[in-house]
Amino acid sequence: MKVVRAAYAGACYGVQRALDLALKAVEDGGCAYTLGPLIHNPQVVAQLAECGVRAVDSVEDVAGAGTVVIRSHGVTPEVKRSVAACGLPLVDATCPHVARAQRAAADLAEQGRHVVVVGEAGHPEVEGLVACAREAGAPVSVVAGPDDLPETLEGPVGVVVQTTQTREALDAVVAALEERGVQLLVKNTICFATRQRQEAAAALAGEVDAMVVIGGRNSSNTTRLADICAAACSRTHHVESPDEIDPAWLAGCAVVGVTAGASTPEEQIEAVATLLEAL
Ligand code: SF4
Repeated sequence: MKVVRAAYAGACYGVQRALDLALKAVEDGGCAYTLGPLIHNPQVVAQLAECGVRAVDSVEDVAGAGTVVIRSHGVTPEVKRSVAACGLPLVDATCPHVARAQRAAADLAEQGRHVVVVGEAGHPEVEGLVACAREAGAPVSVVAGPDDLPETLEGPVGVVVQTTQTREALDAVVAALEERGVQLLVKNTICFATRQRQEAAAALAGEVDAMVVIGGRNSSNTTRLADICAAACSRTHHVESPDEIDPAWLAGCAVVGVTAGASTPEEQIEAVATLLEAL
């Protein structure tokens, strides 16, 4: 089986930075706690736990001494304040692209706009964006697409977007708002790494017999890559590890494409590619 890897795939700058900072916190302070899993990749999170980087649900769950590491997709300002109030050392591994989106949400709110966040309701990054806008005093709506927009939107509107969304999702919401004739300011905060991975995945999926997308099922950006690939290649499969691959999926295929989400380390990509090449 010929295996072709997408031109851009796998761990991004922000995820790698968060991993490095968490491991350094362990080296420096003995134990590190992340509020929720550091990245949306169960295999890597298990390895991190063995190294002393533990996931907890909230600051109250931190047992004794240790450093709190904020994940790459950031937290709400309230969570940051609660860490500070506990007096625990804090390492902020919020990806700079997410921090930029948080500032954009706050700026739009400070301008007196109704802030529309294009993203996945309940995702931690989106919760952070919503909180930044609300703290700056704005009404906020989270929308996955135009159908989620509130029927009435008072006053000027500002749009900000979850860093891992597609350009199409943003454009569809913006087009619907423009049709309503609202006074609009759009901050496109989709990150460069996301765009690169999505474009490379779409291009490759159109050229191969089947696609394998590697990454956590709880990873928003990996799921989006799988959706993009499925739109161009009906034989698309999303896996977390090589042992999930069923050779029957690839019966009759000569060329299979491989891509991976921003929270998928190189070793996992290599392991899947090696297995596919041997089929
Ligand atoms: S996908 Fe983009 S925003 Fe998210 S961590 Fe990676 S570089 Fe940062």
